[in-house]
Amino acid sequence: MTDAPNRTESRAFEADVSRLLHIMVHAVYSDKDVFLRELISNAADACEKLRYEAIAEPALLGDDGKLRILVGINAENRRLTIEDNGIGMSRDDMVEALGTIARSGTRAFMERVEAAQAKEGAQLIGQFGVGFYSAFMVADRVDVLSRRAGSDEAWLWSSDGKGEFSVAPAALEDAPPRGTRVVLHLAEAAKTYAERHTLERIIKAQSGHVPVPISLLSKPGEEPAQIADGAALWTRPKAEISKEEYTDFYRSIAGQYDEPAETIHFRAEGRHEYAALAFVPGSRPFDLFDVDRAGRMKLYVKRVFITDEAELLPRYLRFVRGIVDSADLPLNVSREMIQDSPLLAAVRKGVTNRILADLVKLADSDAARFAAIWENFGTVIKEGLYEDYERRDQLLGLARFKTTTSAGGWRGLKDYLGALKENQTAIYVLAGDDLARLEASPQLEGFRARGIEVLLLSDPVDSFWVAGTPEFEGKPLKSVTQGAADLALIPLLDKDEKPAATDSGITDFVAFVKLTLGDAVADVRASDRLTESAVCLVAPENGPDRQFERLLAAAGRLDASAKPILEINPRHALVVALAGAADESFKADAAHLLLDEARILDGERPADARAFSQRLAKVLSKGLQG
Ligand code: ADP
Ligand code: MG
Repeated sequence: MTDAPNRTESRAFEADVSRLLHIMVHAVYSDKDVFLRELISNAADACEKLRYEAIAEPALLGDDGKLRILVGINAENRRLTIEDNGIGMSRDDMVEALGTIARSGTRAFMERVEAAQAKEGAQLIGQFGVGFYSAFMVADRVDVLSRRAGSDEAWLWSSDGKGEFSVAPAALEDAPPRGTRVVLHLAEAAKTYAERHTLERIIKAQSGHVPVPISLLSKPGEEPAQIADGAALWTRPKAEISKEEYTDFYRSIAGQYDEPAETIHFRAEGRHEYAALAFVPGSRPFDLFDVDRAGRMKLYVKRVFITDEAELLPRYLRFVRGIVDSADLPLNVSREMIQDSPLLAAVRKGVTNRILADLVKLADSDAARFAAIWENFGTVIKEGLYEDYERRDQLLGLARFKTTTSAGGWRGLKDYLGALKENQTAIYVLAGDDLARLEASPQLEGFRARGIEVLLLSDPVDSFWVAGTPEFEGKPLKSVTQGAADLALIPLLDKDEKPAATDSGITDFVAFVKLTLGDAVADVRASDRLTESAVCLVAPENGPDRQFERLLAAAGRLDASAKPILEINPRHALVVALAGAADESFKADAAHLLLDEARILDGERPADARAFSQRLAKVLSKGLQG
């Protein structure tokens, strides 16, 4: 490093970093303490990375094999340092890691914070792990001194968080012998973070369960005092772990700031030995709908962190956070090899089964708590209904739905089957993209009039699994917008209502409409399905239902949609009057208008807007003359 003094370089933060810094410094952040959790968690990650790399290359540890985190304070000059002897950063690592944002979900997070009102914004920040940059909530300047394990260079990164940072070579004697020292020059208003009792309290509460021991050095020259032992929580017996300890651990590994909604901790013994500690978050993680749909369960082998990319759970359980610690997997194989190991496949299966079994049990024993989980993650779990055929029946049993009779609450299929009407042969469903619109669908009228429950499916994934799910416990699933309704055998709730007068007048009218509409429809028929509306559209018996067809068409996966069937309500006053009318040209216009009306009720447009408005004008003026 001969030319060291000339190698200082200033750079601008990536635009997203500036945006994040601005949000963090200016938002009303009620709980600034979290910056310490973020820096300690980075230090622990760095130690775990080194522990892993040292399996293949033990020389990296040198004679300093005891990984640890040291927090130092200097009240006099308002300085706080967090130092680790982990993997460290090279110059390029620093520029990349401390100048850009890699963390997935950050952009979505920022958009939500900016869109939210000030108060909600603060809450949102509280739910999100803000990472390294949160140091600028309390510091006027942050220096990072780092020496990468095995390297003979040290680097200094420095910034006041206002748009730029600098990187320069550092003298080896100023830097830690290995790892990273983050030095916070605390703002006047944040000087409490240089006090021993404040730090001790925060670290114990927030970071007591990071897997690396933490010591506190409260005065330069003193002996550091250990305040967290770095023991792996999951190795301790369940009965000895308090709810608070679980919550702290969850927060430190999940990067979530809420309470877990469910904690699943167990040890598998027998053929494969492993411990698992998994949490269902209390709120939706920000990366839940990222395109990569990646899970975040961490894989440990004999307490050494290996990877969080082992896909330990199926994608539809990607919201679950936690760890699996295997006693059988070999430590000294590459991450790639571990991925394909049959041992890991067995672990995946075991952990998935256990988590699902736990959720099933919870759904049975505490409907309200399970409903809260379903509210957050039901949309994701339902992906399993078409991705995991082996577990489809179990997932169907777990699934909860809004229905026409659930008054806004969640209903399971077992309860649905328990409330079947006499002669009811199917589980009826209606899919669409808006719950309010679904509830107003004319296709539901005949079901309501008979007290038959219909599942209202308003998630985009619903059409996909419904299309591939023929039945549940022997009862077929049937879309109310598809095929014949078969309702004739189920009595109306209102006994006085007359059955449809399908006299010859109606039959003739139906035949007339069919002839008039010709190719525009597959069929025209009298309906059981309607009680108040005059008409509705349904899909033919075979093929996709109306909503699924729309989705396929929107995704460009359908060339020509099947023609719909127009159903006519034979009891409707308008239909009865038209059936009795003599004016053929008036009736022909009415037939076209009825079809357009049915389209509009389905959220579509008239096939030909011009012809529609001309016919409407014609029919209305005739009405005025008559
Ligand atoms: P995240 O931890 O989610 O990746 P952060 O903003 O907390 O995001 O940290 C950004 C990156 O900076 C880390 O991924 C890591 O590469 C690097 N980094 C931060 N602190 C340290 C440290 N103490 N030792 C080594 N690398 C670090
Ligand atoms: Mg971090």
